[in-house]
Amino acid sequence: PPAEDPEVVVDAHGLPYLDAKLPVRRRVADLLSRMSLEEKAGQMTQAERGAMSAPGDIAAYGLGSLLSGGGSTPTPNTPAAWAKMIDAFQLRTRATRFQIPLVYGVDAVHGHNNLAGATVMPHNIGLGATRDPALVQRTGAVTAAEVRATGVPWDFAPCLCVTRDERWGRSYESFGEDPALVESMETIVQGLQGRADGSDLDRSDKVLATAKHFVGDGGTTYGSSTTGTYTIDQGVTHVTRQQLEAVHLAPYQEAVDRGVGTVMPSYSSLDITGDGRGPVRMHARGDMINGVLKGRMGFDGFVISDWNAIDQLPGDYAAHVRSAVTAGVDMMMVPYGYKDFATTLAGEVRAGRVSERRVDDAVARILTQKFRLGLFEHPYADTRGAAAIGSPAHRAVARRAAAESQVLLKNDGGLLPLRTSQKVYVAGSNADDIGNQSGGWTLTWQGSSGAITPGTTILEGLREAGGHVTYSRDASAPTAGHDVGVVVVGETPYAEGVGDVGNGHDLRLSAADQQAVDTVCAAMKCVVLVVSGRPQLLGDRLPGIDALVASWLPGTEGAGVADVLYGRRPFTGQLPVTWPKSEAQLPINVGDTAYDPQFPYGWGLTTLTPAPRGGAATLKALAAAARAADRAGADRTGAALVARARLIVQQKAGQHITAAFAGPFAEADHLLLTGRYGEAVEKLTAAYRAA
Ligand code: BGC
Repeated sequence: PPAEDPEVVVDAHGLPYLDAKLPVRRRVADLLSRMSLEEKAGQMTQAERGAMSAPGDIAAYGLGSLLSGGGSTPTPNTPAAWAKMIDAFQLRTRATRFQIPLVYGVDAVHGHNNLAGATVMPHNIGLGATRDPALVQRTGAVTAAEVRATGVPWDFAPCLCVTRDERWGRSYESFGEDPALVESMETIVQGLQGRADGSDLDRSDKVLATAKHFVGDGGTTYGSSTTGTYTIDQGVTHVTRQQLEAVHLAPYQEAVDRGVGTVMPSYSSLDITGDGRGPVRMHARGDMINGVLKGRMGFDGFVISDWNAIDQLPGDYAAHVRSAVTAGVDMMMVPYGYKDFATTLAGEVRAGRVSERRVDDAVARILTQKFRLGLFEHPYADTRGAAAIGSPAHRAVARRAAAESQVLLKNDGGLLPLRTSQKVYVAGSNADDIGNQSGGWTLTWQGSSGAITPGTTILEGLREAGGHVTYSRDASAPTAGHDVGVVVVGETPYAEGVGDVGNGHDLRLSAADQQAVDTVCAAMKCVVLVVSGRPQLLGDRLPGIDALVASWLPGTEGAGVADVLYGRRPFTGQLPVTWPKSEAQLPINVGDTAYDPQFPYGWGLTTLTPAPRGGAATLKALAAAARAADRAGADRTGAALVARARLIVQQKAGQHITAAFAGPFAEADHLLLTGRYGEAVEKLTAAYRAA
């Protein structure tokens, strides 16, 4: 605890809710029965720590929660500074009647990304490419351990968006375009929270997770926003009820089953075909939040609004509060507007326009998670795990994730893997830039270029691997005598809004990157790495590129990229989204009648040895692997075998996959991911015969 002794206003000792031996349900009921309406409204309020006018407001408004918005980091930005800051806020709650602890939240969406020196994981799109649920769970566990060790018990992650149009600037936060793939990556919830019953949440290396953004954030379209100039982020998702269920809602049932503690509604609106309502903002959709999420799906955690999202609802402020609370939002992220919210809500209840039963339900849900987190017993930071932040062991997990996320799209003449005896010429804007390879939500909200946090750039990784490396960012004078060029191009960071195509970014390489590719690929055999949050359009350049790798946003461990380039690990990643030929094809998904992408969903060559075998032997090996997976059970224990089976398929088919084959391949992929191994074998066998 902080050094200064708290002013204890009321000694609550002896009250049942403080008895850790009682079941959480009873503790919640006891505490709730003692609370005033104002205290309840306070629990439903979350302010931003930098936006608060004075720390005394924590006690004055009985705030339930604080957050650090993107990049709202303490100075100095160290684990100790985080713990001290949060403890000082927590201390303020000791001056309230019931000393209800705050639950502090941050966006740790790829590691503890607001903390300098933390381990930064690949963004979700790269994790989706790994197809490795066990590894993704480990990335969640590392994130949780680093976050909780700084005193933060709550993480606004994972994003369960199913991206359907990569012009959307938050596509990088999606595990992929296929709901089954997103579901398979939800092992990250276990990594963050531990056991599904919430019993691990009081551990000093676990955090409360947030499934976001409920629902349909990945399906928004251009052209119908009410928020101003940009229209795809926070836009409208037009869907039939069947599409809504199959594509966007399915990952939430998985999250609920995995015991996710909180859910955040989406800024976007939902327009369900034929329901006669037109687009309705998700924060006001009681049919979805109360009806589907809490009702049908059985979600028993609490719903946290998105940042200022209630301000986008129709009507006056009281109407915003009424519609969000009655729709089922339990806690409001009102970074600046926390005073207005708490007082308006209390007023609306007094006036009979919001039922106190709804308020009691919201507060009970919030308190339940606070009890589970053990905050009443241990309100202050337990920093014993801080030594592991950014440690070699944690970085090794990120490095492995970076390696497994690499997707080999093209490999003419077997140029990859490189050999350390080769003289390598490295160029391009993203070869030596931790900020660019980490993307948005890294130290600042939108992220930024440069050496913003410790780590290994891709160039440094190549050098550490022992290669003969010459580097020139702009590919000036690539002299003769190099065996191979490695050109690392792609995007600069963005988190929200500005990443939308038409609003600051597009899907083409910058002029400088195009120049670097052209110069190097004209001078020597070349490998192009695309470091980006989504597919980039290479157009006419593709034939001139010998080997092409989708590197996504690998995070701080560029050595993982070097691992696969030098063959210390095989390429095993597979496209989590379809790679289109042009923007005109977007949105594009498997099953579209005109599906004719540059690289289909699931594509990814492998450098796994032994080398590809003949057709009959491949089929036999595949069938054997799938049968073994089948025997291992219909759960995720068969995952490694399944991964192996899928690699065998690709070794054979991947080299010359055709559009006609892509459909059955993707279907088989679904089947493998959902554990229907036998059916997958049948599908693949038929596809092989046809091919
Ligand atoms: C984003 C959320 C995030 C929140 C808090 C919002 O702008 O949409 O994903 O959790 O900010 O930082």
